[in-house]
Parts: sequence; structure tokens; C-alpha cells
Amino acid sequence: SQVPYAVNEPVRLYEPGSPEVKNLISTYKKMWSEKLEIPMVINGKEITTENKERLVSPQDHQHDFGFYYKGDMKHVDDAINTALAARAQWNNLGWEQRAAIFLKAADLIAGPYRDRLNAATMIGQSKNVHQTEIDAACEFIDFLRFNVEFMTEIYAEQPVSSEGIWNRSEYRPLEGFCFAVTPFNFTAIAGNLPTCMAMMGNVVVWKPSDKQIYSAHVLMDCFREAGLPDGVINMIFTDGKETADKVLAHPDFTALHFTGSTSVFQSMWKQIGDNIHKYKTYPRIVGETGGKDFVMVHPSANAAGVATALVRGSFEYQGQKCSAASRAYIPKSLWNEVKEIMAAQLATVKVGSPEDPSNFVNAVIDQVSFDRCKKYITNAQNSSEAEVIFGGKCDDSKGFFVDPTVILTTNPKYESVCEEIFGPILSIYVYEDENWAETLKLVDETSPYSLTGSIFSQDRYAIAEAYKALENAAGNFYINDKPTGAVVGQQPFGGARASGTNDKAGSKMNLLRWTSVRSIKETF
Ligand code: GLU
Repeated sequence: SQVPYAVNEPVRLYEPGSPEVKNLISTYKKMWSEKLEIPMVINGKEITTENKERLVSPQDHQHDFGFYYKGDMKHVDDAINTALAARAQWNNLGWEQRAAIFLKAADLIAGPYRDRLNAATMIGQSKNVHQTEIDAACEFIDFLRFNVEFMTEIYAEQPVSSEGIWNRSEYRPLEGFCFAVTPFNFTAIAGNLPTCMAMMGNVVVWKPSDKQIYSAHVLMDCFREAGLPDGVINMIFTDGKETADKVLAHPDFTALHFTGSTSVFQSMWKQIGDNIHKYKTYPRIVGETGGKDFVMVHPSANAAGVATALVRGSFEYQGQKCSAASRAYIPKSLWNEVKEIMAAQLATVKVGSPEDPSNFVNAVIDQVSFDRCKKYITNAQNSSEAEVIFGGKCDDSKGFFVDPTVILTTNPKYESVCEEIFGPILSIYVYEDENWAETLKLVDETSPYSLTGSIFSQDRYAIAEAYKALENAAGNFYINDKPTGAVVGQQPFGGARASGTNDKAGSKMNLLRWTSVRSIKETF
């Protein structure tokens, strides 16, 4: 490798009472009482406006932790124009210089920025210390370091030549500016989408989710401290729909890197189609969207393994990972045992603010999400086909808290089995053991998504059968493990069908989308 060899950043354990957990919680408390004013960053300048929006912490919606400055369409224009103006110089810099910036950003996060970025994620997105550590710290550091290495591997790849002929591949950035639209649920994804485009020599307009402003602000500070030149990544806080209308109608728009909802991605894709005659070049479109991720259990499975996977896979980060287990199919012969172990584990699960690291489940992101969870729970409580067997409590008096909830249904097509909820709600369907093969079919056909899924079995023939029957049902397929927690460099992440374009985050496949190759043949 031509760059420092990428290895996964070790995850801090934050053992109770350890100095690392004390330091992080004290940073959280200090940052909690600061009154923030968060600007956009366009052309390296901090941009304030007349339009102030309140920053809300999901665990305490009355807490006043400041505001961010909201921009309008003039700011979108400025972001596009400064990106285009920065393009030539950024391109000419050469990959080593770009690599150095992103490697330095990774080191800053691994060191001096770690607590601040983690605490911002805890406050703004309601993640506990463990969930923020695997996201904002480790996963983002991994994205940066592995992507730098993948970039060098891509650039090193050259075609064969022969006597008298020298063939070369020149990996050029895309012609125009790129658009990164990022979600609230992973700080690592918010950081990864704009940086991997920039790494490949592109200039970027970045619109973070308005639920992730705080950690986006810290990321931007870190990129600037790492030496990212002005104008290369421009961070705007503007209305999503209006921004898309403006950006996607611009003749120099050249790529969309998106993580978020299926419906928004589809409408943006359609807009790109409608505008296709306006563009200088065909845009690259990469998206990771929804999921309805399954856990399929064979009668030979280990019940304790299944129960642990369900509790962790469904309820870590309140089920707000695209990869979260949200439907499980359990054979009747195993159900009682799985249920008992889940009951014992759930009895120890605490719900509350991330300020107390022993709270496993924190608040869901906002009122809309809270109301959606509550609707599914109330519907199940009033349904003849479903019952709430664990949890069900919802309390938004202080923060948006929803207890980890399990809905048991006799209808495998029941609404909570089929629809994406994006909250701490798991639906379980118990099948007759002899119906294993037809239940596999059901798993495949129940949802339009194909992001993650797990099969639990001790029987190799059953594993092989599920492996085949579910080959298109999950882009990330787990055998005897929960369907969350993909690690950069180990399980490249992404899915197909309604879950996205499957250009695996944290892989060469993804980086290749942000380069336009010129093939050169020289004859001597
Ligand atoms: N990569 C994450 C995981 O494997 C999920 C990312 C997402 O929610 O988009 O859990």
C-alpha cells in the first residue's frame, strides 16, 4: 500500500467508572449547557442569516441549547458557485495532498475531536456512549482511512500495454459539482458521503439532515482544521425540497450521493430524469434508502443467540438504523425459549437520556418519529391480529421516549411486519416448524426492501437453503448474527431493491462512482 495501512479503529469500551467514560460524560455536560449558534460553511466562511432555527435535543425537547442559521436559495447558489470555482485548484492538487487531509481528519477524530464529536452526536441525535463510539468515532475514522487506501488502489490500476503501445487510465473527477444529502442516524454516514466524493477530486455541496446539525458542525470544523481548502465541501442548512429543485436543475450538477428515505430518493431520481437534457454529463446516482430487515430462525437455531440478536439488533439506537432488525420469523418449537430469554434481557434494559451511560435505549429523533411509533403500537393494541407482548410505553413529556416494543402477530402480512417504522418496534411472526420452506418465501416477498437480514441455524443444509432462497432479500446477509453493525473494510454496506443502488459504502465500488476515467492509448 502507498499510504498508511488501514486497520479498524479500536472501539473504546467505556466501562462504568473508567476515565474514558467520565471524560466523555463531562464533555457532554459541558456542551449541554453551551448556547450554540451554528453557521453554514460556504467557501470556508461561516455564514449567518436572519433566519434562526432552534436546536432540539431529542431527550429534552424544552432544553435550550441554541440555534442554527438557516439559509435560503441564495446560499444554495453560493455553495454551487464556490464549489465550481474551487474545482480546478482542488483537482490539480494531486491525490497525495488530498489523502493527507483526510488521513489527518481521521487522526483528529481518533484523538482531540473524539469526545466532542461523540458528545455532539449524543446531544443532537440521542445516542448513548457505545452507539456514538461505533458510529461518529470508529466508523467514520474507518471510512476515511479505508477510503484513502481504496482510492490509491483504484488509481494504481492500469490496463495492459504492449510493445510500441502504452495504455493508461486517467482517473479524473466528475465534471461539475456533486451533491451529498445525508441522514440524521449516522454521523459516520454524514461525514462519509461528502468526503469520499471530495477525496476523488470532486467539489461538493453538502446538505446534512436538520436533525444532525450539531455533529455536522463538529465534522466541518474538523475538516477545516485538517486543511480542507475553502469551497471543496460547502455545508448548507436549507429546505430539502427547494434545495433539490435548485441543485438538480443546474447544468453542472454531476452526482448525487444520498442516504435517507426511499420516497425522497425516488423523487430526486425522477427530478434528475426530468432535467436530463439540461446536464453537461449524465449524473452518477448513488443512494442508500429504507429497510425492513429480517431475522429468519430455523428450528435448529440457538435460542439464546436469537434472543440476544433481536434485543440488540432491534433496539440499539432505538431501531433507527437502516439495518435494524424489525421483523422476525420464529419456529413454534423455539418460541417459548426465545421469548423467555428476551423477557429476561428486556427486563434489564433502561430507557432514558444518554447522559446516563447505562441507558441502553434513548429518545427517538423527533415528534414525527414518536407519533409514528405510537400509532403502530396503538394499532397493534387494538388489533385482533396482533398484540404488544413487550414494551408499548410512549412518553414525550420531556423527551421522545418509546420503550422497546415487541408486537406478536398471527398475520405475516400485518402492517408492522411490512412497513418501515424506523423506531424501537420489532414484529414477530411464529411459524409452524414444518412450514420452514414457505416461510423463507414469505420473508422474501413480504417487503420491497433488501438491505440487511439474518438467518439463524445450526444446520448447514438449512443455512444453504436460506442462503439461496434469500439471495436477493438482503445486501448484507448475516449467518448467526444480528443484522446491524457492519464494519468498514469487513462487511461493505448497502442493499438493492427499494433499499438503494447497492454501491457499498466504504468500498472501492463506491469510490469508483466518483471518478470518470479517460483511457489513453499512446503509440510510439
Ligand atoms: N451500517 C450500519 C449498520 O450496519 C447501518 C447504516 C444505516 O443505518 O444506514 O448497522
